Amino acid sequence: MDAFKHNIGNLRVIVATSALSMGVNFPDVVYVVHAGPPRALVDHIQEAGRAGRNGNKAHDITIYHGQQLAQCEMRVKEFVKSNECLRVKMYGEFYSATKPLEPLHDCCSNCASNCSCELPNCHDELPFSKPCGHISDKQHSMKRVISAESRQVFREALVDLKGQFDKGQLSVFDSVSTHGFSESLIDSLALNCEYLFTLTGLMDDFPLYSVTHGIAILEVLDELFEDIPGVEELLEILKYFEESTFDIPSFDLFSFTDQSDPESDIDSS
Ligand SMILES: [Zn+2]
Ligand SMILES: [Zn+2]
Repeated sequence: MDAFKHNIGNLRVIVATSALSMGVNFPDVVYVVHAGPPRALVDHIQEAGRAGRNGNKAHDITIYHGQQLAQCEMRVKEFVKSNECLRVKMYGEFYSATKPLEPLHDCCSNCASNCSCELPNCHDELPFSKPCGHISDKQHSMKRVISAESRQVFREALVDLKGQFDKGQLSVFDSVSTHGFSESLIDSLALNCEYLFTLTGLMDDFPLYSVTHGIAILEVLDELFEDIPGVEELLEILKYFEESTFDIPSFDLFSFTDQSDPESDIDSS
């Protein structure tokens, strides 16, 4: 706590409930990331207020599944889905004089996308702003030609895969919150089916929770199209994952699974 409070030592991240910092001041918090939406907007304001107390720029980021909104008050639903200024949406009911910040790119993600000022930092990327499920340019270098029918077959195979993940879950949370393999993920994978070839591409462009999910998707693609580079090596890795009782850090895996050289030795990392 002292290291975090006084910005000394190596502690950079704290995972906490909103009880953290009640009665304690952490002046140098730059990011508040809400894991899931708050039940009430007033909770959100309280949590967001942990950031930027030193007066410097700070970011307040909410990450959520649509399903989680079921338990939130209506104002929270309107807030997270709004296309208008999020600052006005958040504080407007409590302080009616709230206006968007100038320049707009410093206000919120919605205002930033409307900003047309000429300042050099106007188009700086916001944290978490890279859209998920959109194929990045580098993946366009490989493309397969597919019919509407095979896209549908791929989609159905992914639904089966989701069913397998659903079965494995014993949790107080619903299964999608646990494994992240949602209907919308299936939709965007099916939509981009012609560009899916590598594990790194999948992990970079789609919100996959796990490397094993990425490999399972590539296995499905290879069964349908027989064109995934190095699929045998990937399946060896999947087997290793299933047999091991501990998790392999994913950065190790990335260093060798994206080699399209079929001669590459999976032990050579
Ligand atoms: Zn705004
Ligand atoms: Zn601007």
